[in-house]
Amino acid sequence: MAQTYACRDVGADRDWKAIEPTEDELIATVAAHAAKVHPEDDLTPEVWAEVRSVIKDE
Ligand SMILES: [Zn+2]
Repeated sequence: MAQTYACRDVGADRDWKAIEPTEDELIATVAAHAAKVHPEDDLTPEVWAEVRSVIKDE
């Protein structure tokens, strides 16, 4: 069981994906990725809601 997130699901860079055992770890990984690769993106609550909405159980 793992939680997965792919940037393409929110229309961003196509190839980046993250897999973590829990949603909290996944959110932390996505936050680090966003800070590095999407520094221009404002990580508003709406953005996080969108991120959470495309997280999948695998
Ligand atoms: Zn990305």
